Amino acid sequence: MDTTIDLKQVADLSPFELKDFLIKTASRKCECYMLNAGRGNPNFLATEPRYGFLRFLEFALAESERSFSYMPEGVGGFPDKEEIERRFDIFTDGRMGQPGIAFIRNAVSYVRDQLGLPAGEFIYEMSEGILGCMYPVPDRMLRLSEKIVAQYIRKEMIASEPFTGGFDLFAVEGGTAAMSYIFTTLKENKLLRPGDSIALGMPIFSPYIDIPKLHDYDLKEVAINADRDRGWQYPDKELDKLLDPSVKAFFLVNPSNPPSVRMSDKSLRHLGEIVKKRPDLIILTDDVYGTFADNFTSIFAVCPQNTILVYSFSKYFGATGWRLGVIATHEDNILDRAIAALPEESLKELDQRYTSISTDPRHMKFIDRLVADSRTVALNHTAGLSTPAQVQMVLLALFALMDEAEAYKTAMKRVIRRRKAALYRHVPVRPTQSPEDVDYYHVLDMEVLGRQMYEQAFIDWLIAKLKPNEFLFALAEKAQVVLLPEAGFGDPHHAARVSLANLKETDYARIGCSLYDLMQDYYEEYKKSGKEAGTAE
Ligand SMILES: *Cc1c(COP(=O)(O)O)cnc(C)c1O
Repeated sequence: MDTTIDLKQVADLSPFELKDFLIKTASRKCECYMLNAGRGNPNFLATEPRYGFLRFLEFALAESERSFSYMPEGVGGFPDKEEIERRFDIFTDGRMGQPGIAFIRNAVSYVRDQLGLPAGEFIYEMSEGILGCMYPVPDRMLRLSEKIVAQYIRKEMIASEPFTGGFDLFAVEGGTAAMSYIFTTLKENKLLRPGDSIALGMPIFSPYIDIPKLHDYDLKEVAINADRDRGWQYPDKELDKLLDPSVKAFFLVNPSNPPSVRMSDKSLRHLGEIVKKRPDLIILTDDVYGTFADNFTSIFAVCPQNTILVYSFSKYFGATGWRLGVIATHEDNILDRAIAALPEESLKELDQRYTSISTDPRHMKFIDRLVADSRTVALNHTAGLSTPAQVQMVLLALFALMDEAEAYKTAMKRVIRRRKAALYRHVPVRPTQSPEDVDYYHVLDMEVLGRQMYEQAFIDWLIAKLKPNEFLFALAEKAQVVLLPEAGFGDPHHAARVSLANLKETDYARIGCSLYDLMQDYYEEYKKSGKEAGTAE
């Protein structure tokens, strides 16, 4: 292969680092037209809640100027709670027709009439928050903001599943911050100790593989493998590995990344049964893609007491730059109970850790420990997601809650699914489609595709010949197409992850075409090699 990249040298890189080498290869010819379907960053975004943010900021600024009218120009004060609702009505009345005005008016009435929350307090919380003039108080999440975002999580993640009791939210800087905080707090509170085993639902977003191996954590990994030939579902016998009491926690991404498939209802039930036998099992579910699935139910809905839920606004609303995510835990959960049941010696140690911020450290909830640990405990008083970011999060959540006809959701699903169809437009193979498919990503597996187009002897030859990542570099070199290796997500095949989120429909047709061309090239090579070696087929 005509490439200057040493495949051995890059073999251990995470998919995201390897991508930079692929981009270099793809862009070597300067007049090239590179297609980078490596990133999960969407190329669509929700505009209406952003207009809402703009108008709310205008209102809040008017409030600020009003309160300090005797000050020199350019200096404002804080919004005033008294009669703020009336002033909000006057402000919006005078601007009907401007984009975003109807949205924030409807949002206020939705909060008042559908959620039963005090409208004036809501307008005040949004106004003060959007001006960013106060530290986040409470640090875990602004009060009404938490209630509103909880409604959104309930709608999208729990839906019609029977669910009793409430849950707490911690607003964080995206799903990735959530991951890093959760790993830290589980470790600091001795819920995960060096040498413990954790199970990972494979294939998985690669940081979940890399973090536990870090020296800080030193955790043993048990793979719960999804079955590629059964629509990437987890067979019961794989899930049954969780019955082993030495497995302390189960981390999974649902819907998965990269296969982008939600866990089947049958597997959800099976996991529910396992948890009855393993009431101490900690589950962490990263449901970033749940909102793109049909009929989604989170494991959080099925096993609320055992589960830490991570959700991010990044993908669904095209808001990766905002850094918006939440961590949810049920008010009655096994994490708090496991901490309470630690040996006295460990509890004394933890009293020490949290004594500077709590008079009763033993009763600090796990989720509040997450908040404290996110600022190395000592800086707890400045913890929390920036308040303007919380306001944007609330407006995104309200936008989805108010969309009862699900116009946005339908549009989002249509966009990604049309791109998947485009990917196969020029390939003589039809993609499979199951009710669990989400299609935010798509896995192109050389072996699976090849089997549908050529004889098995060629596939065997190809698999034996290809070095890890070789076909990715060939695609980058020949067609300027950049895909992420699927192997880095924990699965050892010659497969690539195509993000269906970040390019135009026609680009996906070209990607499919390029892959097919590459296969044809390999096939030519195979036939030639057969002749030279004199082997008959
Ligand atoms: C994209 C992604 C995230 C990152 O979310 P941010 O909110 O952007 O930090 C987390 N988990 C998974 C599985 C993802 O694919």
